[in-house]
Amino acid sequence: MTLEALLAAKATIVGAWFVCFFIAERIARAAPPQGSYPRLGRNGGMWLLVLIASPLIVAPLTEWGVNHLIWRRPEMLTSGMAGAGMLIISLVVLDCWTYWLHRAYHRFPAMWRLHEVHHRDEFLDTTSAVRFHLGEVVLSALLRLIPISLLATPLSTVIIFETLVLCGAVFHHSNVRIPPVIEGPLARLFVTPSIHWVHHHAVKSDTDSNYAAVLSVWDRVFRSKSPTKRTVDMKIGVEGIEDKGFFSLMLAPFRKAGT
Ligand SMILES: [Zn+2]
Repeated sequence: MTLEALLAAKATIVGAWFVCFFIAERIARAAPPQGSYPRLGRNGGMWLLVLIASPLIVAPLTEWGVNHLIWRRPEMLTSGMAGAGMLIISLVVLDCWTYWLHRAYHRFPAMWRLHEVHHRDEFLDTTSAVRFHLGEVVLSALLRLIPISLLATPLSTVIIFETLVLCGAVFHHSNVRIPPVIEGPLARLFVTPSIHWVHHHAVKSDTDSNYAAVLSVWDRVFRSKSPTKRTVDMKIGVEGIEDKGFFSLMLAPFRKAGT
């Protein structure tokens, strides 16, 4: 499959996945809706900004890194290993990297100011999955060049990983009601809404937990899983800080903390 075909497949899969969950959470809700049109507008505005900037900044940056920052060919890993094996290893390593990067966004104040824009959302649904400050998207793409260069990850693998992460984010932010008999076993392997909503609980100790993106195992392995169980009336957001309008949020990382 060519890169163009992979990119088209990524856009089609993520778009269709988003529409399915956007409709599903209006048919079978887990929590009562609190979303307002201004909120949908600012979440959509941030997505639009990223969609415009991605082909101009993020995609060329990743392509440049894949082509120029190869540290060394990991012969030890690739020798005797089928392409599918290397693909799975790369996806797992990139997912682990995303977990630690997410922890870093919560750990370091300068990074938190970018990531806080995502957390200020006071309700969760599919639109929360695309609500990220452009600065965070660009910084994440830049830092992701580290594992990409160390593993000599091909661009096709990065595109497959991006598809998985985006679909995972839409799923675990969504307000879809999933029967416990399905979500329970699923959560052993993947990050589900019941896991990720706790990460958005407006209580600092819960916000600083449950960092995993796709595989839920990382929070158990690295001891960051919260014991809190999701409830339908759980307050979502950042403890002590309220959400703002689109332009205030865009400027928030460059202002005094919490304003
Ligand atoms: Zn977070």
